[in-house]
Amino acid sequence: MYQVSDIVQIVTTQRFMLPSASLTISELVYDSRKVYHGDSALFFALKAARDGHRFIRAAYDRGIRSFVVSDLDLDYKQYPDANFLWVDDVLEALQTLASYHRKQFHYPIIGITGSNGKTIVKEWLYQMLCQDKKVYQSPKSYNSQLGVSLSLWELSDQYDIALIEAGISQEGEMAKLAEMVKPDIGVLTSLGVAHADGFSSKLVKLNEKLMLFQDSKTVIFPSKYVPEDLRSQSIQQLSWGNSASDKWQLVSTEINGSWTEVLLMEDSVEQRLILPFIDQASIENCLTCSSVMRFLGYDWSVIAERLKQLEAVEMRLQLKSGINNTSVIDDSYSNDLGALRIALDFLERQQQHVKKTLILSEVMGLPNDEKYFDKLRTLLSVFNLTRLIWVGNATTIFDGLDFETISFSSVDDLERHWATLSFADETILVKGGRAFHFESIVKRLTAKSHGTVLEINLNAIEHNLHAYRSLLPADVKLMAMVKAFSYGSGSFEVANMLQYNAVDYLTVAFVDEGVELRQGGISLPIMVLSPDESTFDRLVTHRLEPEIYSFRIFEAFNAYLKQQELQKYPIHIKLDTGMHRLGFLEDELPELLARLKEETTVKVVSLFSHLVASGKQSEDAFTQSQIGQYQRCVEHLEHELGYKVIKHLCNTSGIVRWPSAYFDMVRLGIGLYGIDLHHSNLDIWATSMLKTTITQIKTLKEGETVGYDRRGVLKKDGQIATVKIGYADGYDRRFGNGVGTMLIRGQYVPTIGNICMDMCMLDVSDMKVAEGDEVIVFPDIQQSARAIGVIPYELLVNISSRVKRVYYYQ
Ligand SMILES: *Cc1c(COP(=O)(O)O)cnc(C)c1O
Repeated sequence: MYQVSDIVQIVTTQRFMLPSASLTISELVYDSRKVYHGDSALFFALKAARDGHRFIRAAYDRGIRSFVVSDLDLDYKQYPDANFLWVDDVLEALQTLASYHRKQFHYPIIGITGSNGKTIVKEWLYQMLCQDKKVYQSPKSYNSQLGVSLSLWELSDQYDIALIEAGISQEGEMAKLAEMVKPDIGVLTSLGVAHADGFSSKLVKLNEKLMLFQDSKTVIFPSKYVPEDLRSQSIQQLSWGNSASDKWQLVSTEINGSWTEVLLMEDSVEQRLILPFIDQASIENCLTCSSVMRFLGYDWSVIAERLKQLEAVEMRLQLKSGINNTSVIDDSYSNDLGALRIALDFLERQQQHVKKTLILSEVMGLPNDEKYFDKLRTLLSVFNLTRLIWVGNATTIFDGLDFETISFSSVDDLERHWATLSFADETILVKGGRAFHFESIVKRLTAKSHGTVLEINLNAIEHNLHAYRSLLPADVKLMAMVKAFSYGSGSFEVANMLQYNAVDYLTVAFVDEGVELRQGGISLPIMVLSPDESTFDRLVTHRLEPEIYSFRIFEAFNAYLKQQELQKYPIHIKLDTGMHRLGFLEDELPELLARLKEETTVKVVSLFSHLVASGKQSEDAFTQSQIGQYQRCVEHLEHELGYKVIKHLCNTSGIVRWPSAYFDMVRLGIGLYGIDLHHSNLDIWATSMLKTTITQIKTLKEGETVGYDRRGVLKKDGQIATVKIGYADGYDRRFGNGVGTMLIRGQYVPTIGNICMDMCMLDVSDMKVAEGDEVIVFPDIQQSARAIGVIPYELLVNISSRVKRVYYYQ
């Protein structure tokens, strides 16, 4: 623990102001939304996608009294009792502090880096070590410049060993991480092509990664990734692989069904290891972990035993719908305080239910002592839990917490008493140490799926939001289009994340969609594109704001408002500048204006129009004329109305291509969902993946036929796989007979025969596949859309509601 006055000594400040110098700092925060113990937190106003200085007020309101800032002209007088430290570079100050803190500890610190596998190797090492050591691991994938700093800050004298993951995306970043982490032992997992963009060549990339180990005593790595001449002479090099200089020589690997047998030679003695995986990446990661364990002095027999117990790591939280109108957050694979906190944060953000239950197990590899339980209690006390269901010993530790606590000694015990618990209308976070096998609990809680799921990556949507937002000047608002269930991606789950990220407006197509969002706890203003007379009641009850596009709808709504005696109800006026769909034409505006001036029932919140071809270069002249017409109309209207309205015109393509037309707000749609129609320079991530499974595999002879009307004919002896997706799920019939391509075990396979209602068949001749294998339905959605002559929007929104949505969050 440091006092603010100590911290002034550690980081280099330009100046400081310490009216509360004796405050003790235990937490470092950079996000004003994630503040739980205000007065013991130090806020870093980072200049990231959004400038942290803008959130000082919010952080102060949440109790923070200590700030590290860089803006010299900041108006600190507003905060008379707050400490301010002015530095040149806020991130650098955070790193300096983290690095100082790290130097207080002398137990081994293992630094892990690589293109792929670093988080898995970290998790597996944790699993293998925690059986007899107190292990700290950096939470989830906190591996960036910021993440590593925060990870190091959590080091304490409770541990025997620490695992810190370091990741870089650009040249020059590793030196800083190395300076902070100063790993005693370095581990390089792999070197691949992932994230290659920021690097000029593979060699540069490798050199950069190796920089993490510049002060290490020992480095452990698979030899195939590191050419001999790059290896530093001053560091002990321990590698495994096929070359003569390897400490551990790979003799053979043999895959048997679901496991792999590996023979490894150490000092001429052969060791036999059974790995519970068959894919190449997992085999490599297991061998890297074994090498580290060996270096740490473990016997081969212990290593072999612990390897067998490893399980695949699911690093992401999953949000699913559960029984009795519950939402279930499944995060059963990693359980330490860091990961628990991330999961609780996510739980806290769920607005769909007031009730919140945490099902939590004891943690392995951490001292289950008073100090640990103290931390746990403190952590739990700041979240708004309704109920804690605890699995493990030490039942009295939760005395004094102000929510219901129920304890069970084991998962078995919990399952035996399942009927005594009720779960309904609540959000349930399931978070258990791996040894507890909480999978069975998650199964009991979640509604059944029929084998086809749409996986939605909430991080990717969040990432895309930030990417488009980065194009906008700070004073341009953002409206997120969540119509058609967020282009097929779901309703309140996506909206919740958007609300958390403070978008300004949401837009739905119909009143019912808006009602669902309100019932899911969404409080942002919501515009409804196609309100209908019959739904005015619901619209008003749920504070939804209609688009008014014609005199008919205006008069109807006006009459309704009068009858209800409502005044100044917010509405949005749609102008038709060329779409010729809905909206007022320019020559109708004088009459519209007259009507608006007459009535006090409504207040115009925004005036908007829609570009018809903002993405199409050949129509740029038309777009330009639309922009001109829009501008002329809104300026006139706003002036005549006599008050400010929000003006907005651009959709996704407009955001990318027409900065001159941002006005006060933009409407982001398809881009949010990962479809970059313009191949812009933005780094846009795919957000959803439709997955199904193989139900049956059949071997057929040349000439036999597959499916209805005998349309699929085998041209030679072969094999087909039946998968659980058909046109009722949204897999269009036009994908039949080889037009559609899916992905199984990394290989593309064509459909064969007609698509059926609930199933279809794939030609998997000459491939090694198994029943139960996962199948990716649209490996490339733009390409799939082209194959049947539609646009990606259509494929997305047609994915049937019976396809279960599972949300992932990292
Ligand atoms: C759907 C829609 C958008 C969003 O369009 P994208 O091309 O998906 O970004 C914007 N404005 C209106 C009026 C819409 O209906």
